[in-house]
Amino acid sequence: MTNSFDFGQADVLFTDVDDTLTTDGRLLPETYLALCRLAAAGIRVIPVTGGCAGWCDQIIRTWPVTAVIGEGGAFYAERTAPQTVRWHYWNDAASHKRDQQAILAGIAGLKLDFEPRLASDQAFRYVDVAVDYNQQQSLTPEQVVTLHDALVDLGFNVRQSSIHLNVWLGDFDKSTMAVRVGQDVLGLDLPTLQQRAIFIGDAPNDESMFCRFPLSIGVANIQKHLSAMTHRPATIVSQRSGLGFAEMAENWLKQRVESGLPQTETGSA
Ligand SMILES: [Mg+2]
Repeated sequence: MTNSFDFGQADVLFTDVDDTLTTDGRLLPETYLALCRLAAAGIRVIPVTGGCAGWCDQIIRTWPVTAVIGEGGAFYAERTAPQTVRWHYWNDAASHKRDQQAILAGIAGLKLDFEPRLASDQAFRYVDVAVDYNQQQSLTPEQVVTLHDALVDLGFNVRQSSIHLNVWLGDFDKSTMAVRVGQDVLGLDLPTLQQRAIFIGDAPNDESMFCRFPLSIGVANIQKHLSAMTHRPATIVSQRSGLGFAEMAENWLKQRVESGLPQTETGSA
């Protein structure tokens, strides 16, 4: 476990949000404190989420983070001045918007014997389209498969989370955008980023990150998904969700003390 996990010279943290930082949908004080302590130690923290742009706007404005990657890698946001947030899209914003409109039209035109409904946060999404199957309404497993296959037949990318079917067009994922952020925001090429970045996550939708980043960690709730995953974390902490995140942070900060690394922000980014 992380007692033997070597954080090395890492000073960048990519972290999933849902069920990695949040615990049963809430951000615990222990977890937020861990985020603050990591940032204060000079570690650049970058959440990487499937969550919507509206959610990312809140994160980048209020949390101690360097950037946030949202909607599964469709964009990242950074704070360029205290009240200024800049959005960077995988492609240009206009083409993403056209793609999103095409997906919405495709869903509206489906001839199924049930009516797919969009997620209640669809209005806060810039790129992604989320169909709710298990949040505020529930579809049967057969209906989910029917809908999934119909969307794939229309040429869309589809990924199933625990509550939504996320539908998008484009060749991005969490890890491709993390690599871009490494280059554009941190000024690190891929081999350097792979040596200096930790990733922590909890689910199959984090597999691209587990694949790309060798210094990867799972929170304990990932155990139930491992048998279905091709790319797995290098180590798993003993606690689940946000307390697992805090456990990882504690281990990392302890190792930094033992290695004589700086414990407070040095300003050398
Ligand atoms: Mg998650």
